Amino acid sequence: MSLLTVGSVAFDAIETPFGKTDKIIGGAGTYITISASFFTKPVKVVAVVGDDFPKEYISTLEQQGVDTEGLQIIEGEKTFFWAGKYHNDMNSRDTLVTELNVLEHFDPIVPANYQGSEYVMLGNLSPQVQSTLIERLENKPKLVVLDTMNFWMDIALEDLMKTISMVDVLSINDEEARQLSGEYSLRKAAKKIMAMGPKYLIIKKGEHGALLFHEDKVFSAPALPLEEVFDPTGAGDTFAGGFIGYLAKTDDISFDNMKKAVIYGSAMASFCVEKFGTERLLEITEADLEARVKEFEELTNF
Ligand code: AMP
Repeated sequence: MSLLTVGSVAFDAIETPFGKTDKIIGGAGTYITISASFFTKPVKVVAVVGDDFPKEYISTLEQQGVDTEGLQIIEGEKTFFWAGKYHNDMNSRDTLVTELNVLEHFDPIVPANYQGSEYVMLGNLSPQVQSTLIERLENKPKLVVLDTMNFWMDIALEDLMKTISMVDVLSINDEEARQLSGEYSLRKAAKKIMAMGPKYLIIKKGEHGALLFHEDKVFSAPALPLEEVFDPTGAGDTFAGGFIGYLAKTDDISFDNMKKAVIYGSAMASFCVEKFGTERLLEITEADLEARVKEFEELTNF
């Protein structure tokens, strides 16, 4: 089934206890499209970069099965830049720099070819851009998933609440769920957040896995204990890309199938953190993915 995604395509500079990168390719939209393209092709992306963005990387995305017709390149402007530094436990990080650059005036144009997409993934971006994209779709999609972050809760809460009310699934981390709901208990937080609009809520808990909520039901997915976590950047986006990619591939949005989608998303995220940036995601094969999903199965099977 057809999948449309919007999200930042960026330069990232990352510092972890294991090392430091100069500007490498990142962005929520990048991780989502690469991850989702493992499950369904083409993944149609709506995004914006400046003329400093390497053309070779656009070719890399196209080779992965990404349709880049909706990727705008703005002459004379700079690509979004984000820099972050991880603490020693790798579970928390500080944002050092957020330069919106081309994202500041991003108008998410939906090419005619993208209309009719049944699955829509709204990756991390200004909530106003995310809601504009939904409003521009001529047909109501079968499923809209939204990912966001505390940055937007801090500076654009009103816009974010509007966007949240328009989607079926919201994906955020535990800290963000607590901030958004004002509740410490994730169960209570989930109830409050689902009352804001989304029928389903995913709460990501980093190395402790993820929870999927719907009505009174909750599903807990583990994260695979890895020997080494090299760089967690993009893990949440990679998870979201795998989640919606799996749903688009199987075209089944039942709660039971969403549980499987959470496991596939978690498996993709477990690869993402093994190297800096998107490097590891670009290496893995379908066989690697299936083997990893088996490891997830064995992890909790008793
Ligand atoms: P994650 O580790 O899943 O939270 O995602 C990290 C990615 O989000 C990085 O590649 C950044 O480029 C991107 N990012 C960070 N801040 C923002 C923001 N305010 N808007 C859009 N994308 C962002």
